[in-house]
Amino acid sequence: MKLHEYQSKRLFAEQGVPIPRGDVAETPAGAREIAKKLGGPVAVKSQVLVGGRGKAGGIRLAKSPDEAEKVAEEILGLEIKGLPVRKVLVDEASEIATEIYLGVTNDRTEGSPVLIASAEGGIEIEEVARTQPDKIARAWVDPLIGLRDYQARNLAAAMELPRQHWNPFSEMARGLFETYWNSDATLAEINPLVITKQDELLALDGKIVLDDNALYRHPELAEMRDVDEEVPSERKARGYGLSYVKLDGNIGCMVNGAGLAMATMDVITGLGGSPANFLDIGGGAAAEKVAAAVQIILADPNVNSMMFNIFGGITRCDEVARGILIALEKVPREVYLVTRLVGTNEELGRQILADAKMDTALPRWSKRQKWSLRLRRKRSNEHPRR
Ligand code: GDP
Ligand code: MN
Repeated sequence: MKLHEYQSKRLFAEQGVPIPRGDVAETPAGAREIAKKLGGPVAVKSQVLVGGRGKAGGIRLAKSPDEAEKVAEEILGLEIKGLPVRKVLVDEASEIATEIYLGVTNDRTEGSPVLIASAEGGIEIEEVARTQPDKIARAWVDPLIGLRDYQARNLAAAMELPRQHWNPFSEMARGLFETYWNSDATLAEINPLVITKQDELLALDGKIVLDDNALYRHPELAEMRDVDEEVPSERKARGYGLSYVKLDGNIGCMVNGAGLAMATMDVITGLGGSPANFLDIGGGAAAEKVAAAVQIILADPNVNSMMFNIFGGITRCDEVARGILIALEKVPREVYLVTRLVGTNEELGRQILADAKMDTALPRWSKRQKWSLRLRRKRSNEHPRR
């Protein structure tokens, strides 16, 4: 779950990270009021859950409350990467001298949180990593000890920050890390962290991605979810308990198990195709859930073919086959289907599709594999496992 910039910055501020004064408005008149209260020039910033707002015209400076109202009206009429702008953040404008990047995320290879800093702030860190990898400094944080002052100072030194900024920078790094840690985030990012012409350090932009699996520990954060700003198909999928991520390709993928789903996408990409989505229907999905998944995939106009890759364990291939038929009846669209059904009830599943005049891809088992499969089935019948 992603948090908006204003939500992220408020959480940072609770941990002592300095942020610009400002507030959120849903109307141009509201933006005007805030600008009036702040006095002086303001930055009017669209609150949408995607990056690159600046380029899309979603961030504008305004010198007066009148101008703030006018640009807020324009921004509130925008759609950025398909998402409507419903809120703007009106912040006191800053005079920027330097833009820095500072973020914390999980380093899965190291099995540890990592603090990342770069003097190349303002642009996306992925871009910096690609073009100027030596401009990125990292510090791995021992979760039992927490972030040590010297680690933050090392980052400041690596970025060649003037010494007078080392202490305030360390304080911000500590606050950012605390926010990340306390909220079970997978990413907490300040980009840019600016040094103003008045030599103050400020978190100008903020981003937090929370771990959905830990949200139950944070009801107050779960409440911050903004369903208006989520991709509608992803919201719908969540309602059915499906893990679905929309992508830009044309080959819809329906798979059970996250690992197999990712492997399937890799194979498709490796062969020159382009997956339209990630989808894990989970274990033991009933026909209705399968049907919902197929409908969600086929609702994407980019999709012109679909790959079903089912390895039935708890999931039964016959249920999957029934689900496919239910969905195809409801969505009469011409798409190529490639269906692989293997595992529990595979013969039945294939028969159901064959009866509906649909081909399935036959698994090519070796004799030896067939033999061991049969043996395993026999054993599990003798000792049924639940
Ligand atoms: P993003 O493009 O969605 O990441 O939005 P950011 O909040 O990071 O803003 C993008 C850029 O707009 C920043 O890197 C700044 O250069 C500029 N910007 C944002 N707020 C202000 C401000 O208050 N004053 C000035 N001068 N520039 C700003
Ligand atoms: Mn930014």
